[in-house]
Amino acid sequence: MIKVNKLNKSFGNLHVLKNINLTVKESDVVVLVGASGSGKSTLLRCLNFLEIKNSGQIIIEGEQIEKNTHDLNKIRQKVGMVFQHFNLFPHMTVLQNVIEAPIQVKKQTKQEAIEEGKYLLEKVGLGDKYDVYPSTLSGGQKQRVAIARALAMKPDVMLFDEPTSALDPELVGEVLATMKELAEEGMTMVVVTHEMGFAREVADWAVYMHEGKIIEVGSPNELFDNPKEKRTQAFLSSVL
Ligand code: ADP
Ligand code: MG
Repeated sequence: MIKVNKLNKSFGNLHVLKNINLTVKESDVVVLVGASGSGKSTLLRCLNFLEIKNSGQIIIEGEQIEKNTHDLNKIRQKVGMVFQHFNLFPHMTVLQNVIEAPIQVKKQTKQEAIEEGKYLLEKVGLGDKYDVYPSTLSGGQKQRVAIARALAMKPDVMLFDEPTSALDPELVGEVLATMKELAEEGMTMVVVTHEMGFAREVADWAVYMHEGKIIEVGSPNELFDNPKEKRTQAFLSSVL
């Protein structure tokens, strides 16, 4: 589904991603962990082409994507993204948030988009919130709207960048439950999170990043219980 070869990304003199190699197969759930500043968000943003790599290859569904030869807006439809801070449109209702891009970008009919949007909101447990504005929702509800909005584009892969980090602790579970359901339906997912319980339960692979490099990859239990690398051990003992 996604293959990354020798990906490098710099901001000016700051070399943020260093020869990243990563393979994500269809229906895989990959959890990305690492200290703040290690490049996790930048990697997700490169996979979604919100940032443009300096070198290396990003292959999505067998096709090597380059900004000169591909319509990146089309690629972004395949690769949905959910952010820490929801980024909902405050002046639109919940349903309008969800149907906006399918209508504007995917050229769905309004009727179709509404039907699909209601189905998705129902699915994330917000079937009674179509007509309210985001400001009236809890953080957990906002994040579930953001997930429904991303799903409305019918992506093949979903990227989650610390989706529960901005939430009050009691609201984390409902968002993780929604993500778990999505994983069980076979969605391919790359998730940056510090929720080790979620990682162990849901992820097929865990990846540890340190200073722009992938240091270690393994099953969540392997990586969290028996890290091979000293740096992984040090990181884990600082967060667990
Ligand atoms: P993480 O998500 O693991 O905390 P990031 O990918 O956000 O790490 O950041 C990695 C490094 O890149 C940090 O040093 C950060 O300051 C830097 N960085 C990220 N985005 C930009 C940007 N747009 N311009 C300049 N530096 C950036
Ligand atoms: Mg980040």
